[in-house]
Amino acid sequence: GVAGERGVRASLTARDRVGIQDFVLLDAYTSESAFLDNLRKRFHENLIYTYVGTLLVSVNPYKDLDIYSKKQMDTYMGVNFFELPPHIYALADNVFRTMLSEFNNHFILISGESGAGKTEASKKILQFYAVSCPSTKLLNNVRDRLLLSNPVLEAFGNAKTLKNDNSSRFGKYMDIQFDHRGGAVGGHILSYLLEKSRVVHQNHGERNFHIFYQLVEGGEEDLLRWLGLERNCKNYRYLVQGDCAKVSSINDKSDWKTVQKALSVIDFSESDTEHLFGIIASVLHLGNLKFEADARGYATIKNNQETHWVSKVNCLSVLQQGLTHRKIEAKTEEVLSPFSVEHAVYARDALAKAIYGRTFNWLVNKINESLDSSRKMVVGLLDIYGFEVFSVNSFEQFCINYCNEKLQQLFIQLTLKSEQEEYELEGIEWEPVPYFNNKIICDLVEEKFRGIISLLDEECLRPGEATDLTFLEKMEEKIGGHPHFVTHKLADKNTRKTLERGDFRLLHYAGEVTYYWLMYYSSLFHKVMQHSKNAIIKHCFPSSEPDNKKRPETVVTQFKNSLVGLTEILTSKEPWYVRCIKPNESKQPAKFDDVLVRHQVKYLGLMEHLRVRRAGFAYRRKYEIFLQRYKALCPDTWPNWKGTPAEGVRCLIKHLGYKTDEYKLGRTKIFIRHPRTLFATEDAFQV
Ligand code: ATP
Ligand code: MG
Repeated sequence: GVAGERGVRASLTARDRVGIQDFVLLDAYTSESAFLDNLRKRFHENLIYTYVGTLLVSVNPYKDLDIYSKKQMDTYMGVNFFELPPHIYALADNVFRTMLSEFNNHFILISGESGAGKTEASKKILQFYAVSCPSTKLLNNVRDRLLLSNPVLEAFGNAKTLKNDNSSRFGKYMDIQFDHRGGAVGGHILSYLLEKSRVVHQNHGERNFHIFYQLVEGGEEDLLRWLGLERNCKNYRYLVQGDCAKVSSINDKSDWKTVQKALSVIDFSESDTEHLFGIIASVLHLGNLKFEADARGYATIKNNQETHWVSKVNCLSVLQQGLTHRKIEAKTEEVLSPFSVEHAVYARDALAKAIYGRTFNWLVNKINESLDSSRKMVVGLLDIYGFEVFSVNSFEQFCINYCNEKLQQLFIQLTLKSEQEEYELEGIEWEPVPYFNNKIICDLVEEKFRGIISLLDEECLRPGEATDLTFLEKMEEKIGGHPHFVTHKLADKNTRKTLERGDFRLLHYAGEVTYYWLMYYSSLFHKVMQHSKNAIIKHCFPSSEPDNKKRPETVVTQFKNSLVGLTEILTSKEPWYVRCIKPNESKQPAKFDDVLVRHQVKYLGLMEHLRVRRAGFAYRRKYEIFLQRYKALCPDTWPNWKGTPAEGVRCLIKHLGYKTDEYKLGRTKIFIRHPRTLFATEDAFQV
């Protein structure tokens, strides 16, 4: 808008101190170092937000800033994007107003690595909508539900990790639904790939999901007695493998209260919560089950006390058999084959994971029931795990990183596509910017018949003994020549040193990751779980489910399909981006680690995005608006221009002396290549 340029100018005068608030605005910022300098400068002034055009870059301050008050929200409500300092509220407001004026759907993709501030950003946006948007009395309850869905989901889906004390261990897409007047009237949540392995195993310095500790620390005496739990996390195997049940930044007791209150607001009945915590407790009891070998070497349960509690709180009675035997289908009948102790342990953990994972999905559905409205003008928020590299990377990292490849691909398509479409529409020629297209990696993972997922599916469903090694061999045979795929056998001499024999390595767009594969077995417990009297468990393991005749879908294929679904949801909406950056690895305020930030700037695609924005035309204005704003600069157009706005603009820029390579005239808009052209015009205007 018109006032926008004035904001830009104001910021220019102060830029020596606080840096520039939009990277698109200055030539110098095309280099990575200059980009970094600007981010650093602003970070040290507590200016954590910076734009690249309409993309918002956010650097985690690791301290509370006084910029999220209701007063701040009001300041940003309904004000043009570039008029005020960059803020997440400005983005939220801009999205909101575009939605209202165009009656279409939008999404905000929030990305960045663990601890960069994605979840905080998404909460700020949700708060902005819930608090600032026009609402009636009736809607106030909706506002509470929207806001309170967060603590519940975080209790069950977040955990303390080495990187983040409140790390989201699932991907989350949330639609915020609005009515035609812009009132937030509902919401809908989709969750992706909960990290179930955490239920049974935590690395050193990490915890299980928050809810377990909340229950044990905060649960009322009566409740704990009923669940057969003691108030001591140390007693539960599933809670102490990371050796850090207590975390200074977390208050499990008060979080328990918050979650209780939230559950009641979002329509959980007493029996719902009873069943829910019955499940949580039964997982803890399961974790304490021990097995010993009988005379023939087969597993039997050693501590029947725990079995008793699992059965009691979970209403599950056939556990013994389910955990120590496997069902084998012979020609006409089912035969039970006994497990070894090792197998039984595996089965126990797999059961715990399955129960927790399905309960989480049930929880999400339940929240949705309480939020969903029929209104469907939406702003979607995507808060999804960033690219992950650990020393040992397994199936879950593979899925997470594949998801990031897909989102990067979408980013590339949408940013380039929309630019190109606009130029085409306006009849403007332009030269696309070279960039690395990661489609080649997406294909490597997901292509039909020869992608990694297809090969894995084949291997998982093949009768006989498929192992990590047979899978690796199959990949070497089918995709061995691919430039982004390496194994020990395929590597050159130097690379080989860094690869173990069973590993494979993918060269992702964001870096190399070496995967150590663990073939996973499909779950064995379906039948057992159906006998449960716990309503939630029953719902989670419906009796119709494993249809033995049909080819079951593997976990990875389910994930792939859910990503296809997500891509469809996103491509039908207008994209906006928040890129979150983590300033240091030690969760400290005022510490800006150049190497770390540079790496993120690189793989978040910020330089590419900037280049695309700049290679095209930094600013574009409808003829009417441009003329209206600058007509006073030319005697022929002032005070009133009689001809068409396009002719007026032509006359105006001729008078101003624009050179032909500085602008292009489209069908309805003038396109200006460099912001400095506009600044010069602004300056003329000010004199
Ligand atoms: P993960 O991928 O692990 O879920 P994330 O990107 O969602 O990470 P957050 O949980 O949003 O990261 O942020 C981590 C921590 O950083 C927060 O708990 C908070 O302490 C701090 N933080 C993030 N953003 C802000 C902010 N805008 N202001 C103050 N502190 C913040
Ligand atoms: Mg998070």
